[in-house]
Amino acid sequence: MVFNWILDRIFPTECPVCSKSSKSHLYNPLCQDCWKEIKKYNGPSCRICGIPAISEYTITCSTCLKTPPPFSQVIYYSLYEGNLKRAIHLFKFHKIRRLASPLAKLLLQLPIPKVDYIIPVPLHVKRLREREFNQTALLCRFLGKELNIKVLLNELIKTKETTPQALLDRERRIESVKNAFIANKDKINGCHILLVDDVITSGATISECSRALRRAGVKKVTVVALAHSAPADLNA
Ligand SMILES: [Zn+2]
Ligand SMILES: [Zn+2]
Repeated sequence: MVFNWILDRIFPTECPVCSKSSKSHLYNPLCQDCWKEIKKYNGPSCRICGIPAISEYTITCSTCLKTPPPFSQVIYYSLYEGNLKRAIHLFKFHKIRRLASPLAKLLLQLPIPKVDYIIPVPLHVKRLREREFNQTALLCRFLGKELNIKVLLNELIKTKETTPQALLDRERRIESVKNAFIANKDKINGCHILLVDDVITSGATISECSRALRRAGVKKVTVVALAHSAPADLNA
């Protein structure tokens, strides 16, 4: 294709995963081979919180049975490992914005229910300044366009600055995000919201966001994410 040939000349790209030259501008900057390794997770998982289950026979995990979470369901593309982890990392920390489109396409392969609005997990304004953009909001923009659903960026905000979740153990994660979010009920009262996150670790963040949304009168929250921590990383 002439268009790709021209792009190759203007932006010669080396795949950041395998270092071979990447010709696929569709999956920029990963090469097509590396992208193909990203496969949907079809293993057992809790039907509510999505935690990759240990047993094939467990339908709902013990945590969800004991305390039903404030969201109705979590769906995600795959586990946070391998090339998906690398792609998310490049998108998030190396600020490679052109990964937003192929990553959003992964989300579009999921059985997303019909919702009223799409809302990204927000960043605190200070973190937003450091990162320059909220990568999850960028994913939402693609989703909203494809699904023809409005994205709300100002209805759910993060009022408390928190330690990055990856640096904390499970209990501290829950503690650190407690009451960190606040939602404005004007538009979302009585609605079904699609809450979008990039990676779900302990579930503490999506739980707190969902709680804030429910407090603002939201009827139902469905969570969609690119990845969920692999079982081995959950208690690390
Ligand atoms: Zn590659
Ligand atoms: Zn569960």
